[in-house]
Amino acid sequence: MASPQLVDRFGRVHDYLRISLTERCNLRCFYCMPECGIELRDNAVFMTEEETIGIAKIFTELGVKKIRLTGGEPLVKKNAHELILGMSSLPVKMAITSNGVLVDRFIQTFEKAGLKTINISLDSIDKYKFNEITRRDYHDRIINNIHLLLSKGFRVKLNAVVIRGVNEVEIPQFIELTKSFDLSVRFIEFMPFDGNQWNWDKMLSYKEIMEHVASAYDQDDVIRLNDEPNDTSKNYKIKGFKGSFGIISPVSSPFCESCNRLRLTADGRLKNCLFGQEEFNLLEPFRNGEDIKPIILNAVQAKHKERGGITALDHTFADQKWANRSMTTIGG
Ligand code: SAM
Ligand code: SF4
Repeated sequence: MASPQLVDRFGRVHDYLRISLTERCNLRCFYCMPECGIELRDNAVFMTEEETIGIAKIFTELGVKKIRLTGGEPLVKKNAHELILGMSSLPVKMAITSNGVLVDRFIQTFEKAGLKTINISLDSIDKYKFNEITRRDYHDRIINNIHLLLSKGFRVKLNAVVIRGVNEVEIPQFIELTKSFDLSVRFIEFMPFDGNQWNWDKMLSYKEIMEHVASAYDQDDVIRLNDEPNDTSKNYKIKGFKGSFGIISPVSSPFCESCNRLRLTADGRLKNCLFGQEEFNLLEPFRNGEDIKPIILNAVQAKHKERGGITALDHTFADQKWANRSMTTIGG
């Protein structure tokens, strides 16, 4: 196994790469996709299957041990089956985050690729509310696919972005799902990105999410679990329930100190932080046959201590977000 070379100025070892396979998506979640959609660009600007795997391989040579495929919706990518299988031949733990719409077509591919856990995003248990959030009508299909994954023995993590006035009342209902299903539900604080209708009032903090938990469950029944190293969620379970729940709080209590993540966008740009504005073009030099390792090392050295250099958690945080891409074009 390669020794870690992706160590930044703050001693953080970067061994986790999130790759966006595509900017496209079959849903239109209002908090992720700008209302007007995203500019559809020529296919030539995006990494091909071979380029994605080729660039990923170089990261593994530099010490990356885990790769998550994301997007946009990774399963709408042309050749997604081949890409998942090709990626699984690399010496990494592989993971995927999907909206679940197409999961039934990928069960065998997931099995062949050795995927054990599938992250599915589901922001509402209520079909009509879900349709409003996603501006599409796929709730039944996604729920069926979650059951399918569980019946096939996959571990499922359900991700829900909590937005005030939209779905915060469903926090206990989501946790109730963990009573009889061995699911992990993760509540994500709403983050600001280009054109996503974010403001402070809509954001429920970790503390506020826990207040909703406290209003539904006896304090003695809420058990704090040990978090994994580099875990972005603070994890809990309700006594006697099969599954667990966690809170991901990038806004109110960032986990930058233990960050081990890098991001590769579908157009082959390396981002050293989700909130960062800097991008490092890997695709063009890769296509020209150049060595991209020095660019990757340089990008890691350029990483800021916190949130891509956004330090102030006041109104300027909201202002600075506009210089970033939308979530669907970064890769969540
Ligand atoms: N399409 C896939 C999906 O929805 O799971 C993968 C891509 S999506 C961008 C990855 C994750 O980012 C999802 O769980 C989504 O809910 C989350 N996400 C998107 N925009 C967000 C925002 N503004 N704040 C917090 N989480 C967000
Ligand atoms: Fe698509 Fe995922 Fe963004 Fe929703 S959160 S629009 S499913 S990429």
